[in-house]
Amino acid sequence: MDPEQLADKLKAGDRRTVARLISLVEDEDPHMADVVRALGPLVGNAYVVGLTGAPGVGKSTLAAAMVKAIRADDLSVSVLAIDPTSPFTGGALLGDRLRMQEHATDPGVFIRSMATRGHLGGLAWAAPHALRVLDAAGADVIVVETVGVGQAEVDVVHAADTTLVTLAPGMGDEIQANKAGILEIADVFVVNKADKEGARRTVRDIEQMLHLGAAKDWTPPVLLTQADTGEGVDELWEQIRKHRAHLESTGELRARRLRRAAREISEIAVARVRRSIGEPGDSETLDRLAADVLEGRLDPYAAADRLGAT
Ligand code: GDP
Repeated sequence: MDPEQLADKLKAGDRRTVARLISLVEDEDPHMADVVRALGPLVGNAYVVGLTGAPGVGKSTLAAAMVKAIRADDLSVSVLAIDPTSPFTGGALLGDRLRMQEHATDPGVFIRSMATRGHLGGLAWAAPHALRVLDAAGADVIVVETVGVGQAEVDVVHAADTTLVTLAPGMGDEIQANKAGILEIADVFVVNKADKEGARRTVRDIEQMLHLGAAKDWTPPVLLTQADTGEGVDELWEQIRKHRAHLESTGELRARRLRRAAREISEIAVARVRRSIGEPGDSETLDRLAADVLEGRLDPYAAADRLGAT
């Protein structure tokens, strides 16, 4: 594998190379370090939209509808669906193939799933790597969709320029919206399934909660969509563009990207340390030190010192 050659293929928009590199990210392949180095000059163009929300609210349907709106603006778009819990790897998921069909002949669209069960860093490590690959492949916009379970919902923010929080009526809205952190992470709220009873009330509930919060220079708009017909999705794309303009004019885009870069460095460093220490049960040194701690010959801090992890 020649990283320079891969970078050239990526630059030429070779989809198989994109898919192959995302697989390397999934596998936490150590070659990714060389690949990332080779991709260096190619990254920096993509705008990242995070899409989060509980399972079933309509994120995948919404992502597909957003692809249409973004393509109508003549921008290329990639959708990366991240599943931090899936035992499946390899982007060959049935859902992807179905979603791809509509755009199969459109070179401006790339859709792919990624499982991130890796022990080194999981989503926090994998997401920025995958984003680099898609960015280098020429995506103008990347929609990162996470299966909304716990930490992943919040982690997506660290990867995104604009974060969409999706809700749907009749799914325990109050619990959904009141969940710790949700108000803080949303740049735009999407109430999907506008055709269902209670959708407007959900919008009002969120607006009310936003009212109660501290005034900010950006108040997240609350939009109604019907993802399966595409209704409201052009307006959603318009609001994302407005948010982008806001971030750019206030300098907040650079600030967010700086935080993202710092986090990425830290994740890589942590993954390195983990790799060098090894896994319990799989590292002789670690297991020997564990016995020393258990039998009272060493305290755990002294043991960590011996691993070089001071
Ligand atoms: P995800 O788990 O959040 O990705 O949700 P999906 O996109 O898989 O959608 C879950 C279900 O809701 C599917 O059966 C969709 O067809 C349906 N769905 C998505 N958007 C809408 C909508 O606007 N209205 C209605 N009634 N159903 C929708």
